[in-house]
Amino acid sequence: MKKFAVFGNPIAQSLSPTIHQMFADQLGETISYEKILAPEDGFVEAATTFLAQDGAIGCNVTMPFKLDAFNFAKVDDQAAKDAQAVNTLMNDDNGKVLGYNTDGIGLVNDLLNNDVEIQGKRVLLIGAGGAARGVISPLIEAGAASLTIANRTKAKAEQVANAVSNSKVQVVALEDIASVAPHIIINSTAASLSNELPCSLNNGVLRNCDVVYDMVYKNSPTRFMREAAEAGVENQIDGLGMLVEQAAEAFYIWTQKRPDTSDIVKRVRDIVEQGEKRN
Ligand code: NDP
Repeated sequence: MKKFAVFGNPIAQSLSPTIHQMFADQLGETISYEKILAPEDGFVEAATTFLAQDGAIGCNVTMPFKLDAFNFAKVDDQAAKDAQAVNTLMNDDNGKVLGYNTDGIGLVNDLLNNDVEIQGKRVLLIGAGGAARGVISPLIEAGAASLTIANRTKAKAEQVANAVSNSKVQVVALEDIASVAPHIIINSTAASLSNELPCSLNNGVLRNCDVVYDMVYKNSPTRFMREAAEAGVENQIDGLGMLVEQAAEAFYIWTQKRPDTSDIVKRVRDIVEQGEKRN
């Protein structure tokens, strides 16, 4: 039995065990995958104990431990280095724990699955937290013409852009996002969780925009997606596919087997819809 887990605080809401069990069933692996609630100051101890068990292959890491995991692991993965955040850990053969970040590849794969062309497009990224940092380099590598970051706290966006140090990555004030004339807008903030918009959509920012992407997922489109649709944006995508795709990349790192995600995204969406209806 290969053992896996996801660490977070809170963690009860995590869909990762369900998603990884679906991958394992599809690919003929026998696994256990548990949710582990680590104390806020106790991630390293909890992860070390888990990874020392017989059969432990690796684990996922979610809020608020991605920076702790980055500092704990041996990180060769460029995406994790750029993000300064790790969401996937794996025991290697030499007793070391390796760290990866699969959020960015998860977003890019989900955009491509949804037939969104990234090559040559101007991308506006709202937010400058851990989720934003993880997707910048993968979007540039996928061919974005430019990537402009806007955040409620502008200084944080500037810090993130300086750390990436790529001429395609710029920062703009939230009041000036229309000047970017983006083709794709990605909301990497938590604003949708409280039914807020991360930025104004009434200032001309949507005039060239074909796609809005909200990393948050709910049982129905978020306010950001709905208002963009009402303003004429053709394509609105939520973050459920990203969640499944980042998990698929982690599963591949651990097992060298790549899940077929198309049906799994639909099944996980059914679970989210039924779960939220029950609440
Ligand atoms: P962080 O706490 O690191 O960053 C939060 C970001 O959201 C900051 O830029 C913050 O701005 C901004 N923000 C928070 N509330 C608001 C608001 N009301 N209006 C405008 N901006 C706001 O969180 P993460 O980056 O780790 O995660 C952000 C979101 O992305 C979460 O909701 C998470 O669920 C989602 N996510 C989804 C994934 C997926 O697979 N679909 C993967 C990872 C994350 P400021 O700097 O000014 O505080």
